Amino acid sequence: MTGLEPGQPGAERGRGSLPSNAPRPRLLERYRAFLPLTDATPIVSLGEGATPLVHAERLGAAWGIPNLHLKFEGMNPTGSFKDRGMVMAVAKALEEGARSIVCASTGNTSASAAAYGAAAGLEVVVVLPAGKIAAGKLLQAQAAGARVLAVEGNFDAALRIVRELAEQDEHPITLVNSVNPFRLEGQKTAAFEVCEDLARAPDILAIPVGNAGNISAYWMGFRAWHAAGRIGALPRMWGFQAEGAAPLVLGHPVEHPETFATAIRIGNPASWEKAVAARDESGGLIEAVGEDEIFDAYRDVVRFAGIFCEPASAASLAGVRKLRLAGRLDADALVVCVLTGHGLKDPDTAGRLADPLVTAAPTLPAVMEALGWHF
Ligand SMILES: *Cc1c(COP(=O)(O)O)cnc(C)c1O
Repeated sequence: MTGLEPGQPGAERGRGSLPSNAPRPRLLERYRAFLPLTDATPIVSLGEGATPLVHAERLGAAWGIPNLHLKFEGMNPTGSFKDRGMVMAVAKALEEGARSIVCASTGNTSASAAAYGAAAGLEVVVVLPAGKIAAGKLLQAQAAGARVLAVEGNFDAALRIVRELAEQDEHPITLVNSVNPFRLEGQKTAAFEVCEDLARAPDILAIPVGNAGNISAYWMGFRAWHAAGRIGALPRMWGFQAEGAAPLVLGHPVEHPETFATAIRIGNPASWEKAVAARDESGGLIEAVGEDEIFDAYRDVVRFAGIFCEPASAASLAGVRKLRLAGRLDADALVVCVLTGHGLKDPDTAGRLADPLVTAAPTLPAVMEALGWHF
């Protein structure tokens, strides 16, 4: 660990609102010097950030990428990286006196907004594309008491509507989609953690791209850490979209985006220019991966690395594997794949990994028989 620990000289301890016996500073406290916080910003926290960076030795060996690391963002409180941005956006909304927050979502933003809004006592309204949300995400938002509306359109239509909702001033309501600049500010902290855990920047940072906020946030984070002299070099940013929802690869919006990786089923990314800048400034790329490639990576990462991520997350792995097979990735490269969300969120897709359950009588011979063991 090269990170700042509580009590360590130089640790950014903030204003003393942190109990001295706290095991870890909260995300906003920890990176206070790099975040747009003021003395009036309340430090909300559900324990976000400080997610594991796992060296996937067995998976990396199978794929010929021995230095493959996984940043498992499914370990955030609501099971996705969205919590890093939401804690920042909700803190600023509270500072500004907001009573209500609204978002459009492919699922995880709404789960996160619902949780942080509940903890902060805010009214939460979420607008979702009907029928295209993984079951776990919808239940998270509903369980936390958010007002959930499904529109008969895709994510892009939902985002257009909530932008208009937030602009009217009859009922002041803060938009917490990634077009809210505080979202990206919070999300950039994941890049800091990656650099702290590796004690350097990776050669390649691979990441799924939907609305393109996260790739933009990581790039902001790496540049800020570099400018502060904490890393000597910057990574190349490799973004991956699903073939049926690849506007940044095609160079134009996709009217009817389609992919089973619903978190990246977006046809007109809000952070288009920022993502293209991240790609170009870093000497990186944004490419597409097929449905089967995503599914195979989704299966292999849990079978070879024990990490159960959601389908969209596996786009980063699918892309790295594809480029390695194409001879476009050096075997000794230090690669970090961001696994953006938890596999438990999408039980319907997870069912495709499962064989029918075998039952047996509660006796040793019956269980041996069912296992096909004879000795
Ligand atoms: C939101 C999300 C993405 C896409 O991130 P963008 O910032 O929209 O590009 C990818 N995976 C998961 C699990 C997500 O929740």
